[in-house]
Amino acid sequence: MVQFAEPGRRAKLAAKEHSSGSSNLPSDTDDSVHDSVKGSQPEDGRVNKKKRRWRRFKDDLPEPNGDKSMSKRRNSLSKAARDPRDEPERKEGKKAKVVQGTETRSPTPVIDFDGLSRPSRGTRERLDENSEQAAERLDKMRAAVRTILECVGEDPDREGVLDTPARYAKAMLFFTKGYQQNVKDIVNDAIFHEGHNEMVIVKDIEIFSLCEHHLVPFTGKMHIGYIPADNVIGISKLPRIAEMFSRRLQVQERLTKEVANAIMEVLKPQGVAVVMESSHLCMVMRGVEKTTATTITSCVLGCFERKEKTRNEFLSLVGLNRRM
Ligand SMILES: [Zn+2]
Repeated sequence: MVQFAEPGRRAKLAAKEHSSGSSNLPSDTDDSVHDSVKGSQPEDGRVNKKKRRWRRFKDDLPEPNGDKSMSKRRNSLSKAARDPRDEPERKEGKKAKVVQGTETRSPTPVIDFDGLSRPSRGTRERLDENSEQAAERLDKMRAAVRTILECVGEDPDREGVLDTPARYAKAMLFFTKGYQQNVKDIVNDAIFHEGHNEMVIVKDIEIFSLCEHHLVPFTGKMHIGYIPADNVIGISKLPRIAEMFSRRLQVQERLTKEVANAIMEVLKPQGVAVVMESSHLCMVMRGVEKTTATTITSCVLGCFERKEKTRNEFLSLVGLNRRM
């Protein structure tokens, strides 16, 4: 179940990168590791000596900014609780592995306590809004699209595009309707005890999603397989789970993983495998303009991860083994 740990770890690293900002923290905070390991708080003079000794041991590390930064560091020695931004950065080599080992699963599970999947403040607001707030939201979006029309050089009052802002706003809300849905409502207790333990596959599920980097569609097909542990899920629920996650701003890698993790959590099968092949308009229409390129992503959990034979059976049944 290594996959569960993945998104969390990445998110954590990303958050760290974010919080460390553009300051000169790396070499500075790295010292704090050694300081805290030693634990004691000697007098200032001795600190400097010991620090210099440490420096000699870690020649490979970049030198800090000299005495100025060291006196800055000395002050923080007396402070026990640290700002989280003072945490040493763990990015490469051994230290990164330590992080991997201690994290066993995502800190933000696929299904949250209220049944919403990956909620944010905006999701909540969108779900709970009254008709007045909904109208306000549409107005705001209309104004934004009108601005875009102006910026691309159009005349937003031209007859042909007069209603485009309103149309686009509504379409955009439809493209992202997955934000208002949650796994629990979709599954709706359609889990049945069948004593069935053979592979179940739903293949060629059509996917229409929006790339979160360019707000441009990517479309393709998803194949979902699982091996039940006695319980099976209503077969139509699998495409609906895929649909829910795809109707949000996505990257294909995360979409694949979210679908697999959601099924794993609601059904607790022996294993889940999800493969998706799709074409990204942001790649086809702009950028490298490779019109025939297909992006394939997969996420295998449980027995699919452990057993190569099971994985291969799935891949050949969905018809991917031949081409790969
Ligand atoms: Zn893109």
